[in-house]
Amino acid sequence: MVYFSWSFDLCAGCFTLKRKLMDILACPIDKFYPLELLVFEGEDEINSGIITCPKCDRWFPIIDEIPHMLPDELREQKEDLPFLQKWKSKIPERTLQQGKPFNLKSAS
Ligand SMILES: [Zn+2]
Repeated sequence: MVYFSWSFDLCAGCFTLKRKLMDILACPIDKFYPLELLVFEGEDEINSGIITCPKCDRWFPIIDEIPHMLPDELREQKEDLPFLQKWKSKIPERTLQQGKPFNLKSAS
């Protein structure tokens, strides 16, 4: 698994996502800020959730407290679609139907 560090300073091994850190996250594709955060599991620590970019409709999973902010070419449909399926009752319809780089509509 490859993790990317963007203009903000984070790494997979040393980073625990706190809500306040959303203040520094920007979309890796278009640098849009601020991104939207939905938490599925967790209180102070975000165990599972999703980050969405309202500008380009991209979404990024948060798995085991790690935000996976990968560009499209490093995304794997076979990893991302099960994530959408697992949490689809909590993910906005817009992301499920139009989210990039993968969504449930393009998969069917
Ligand atoms: Zn974006």
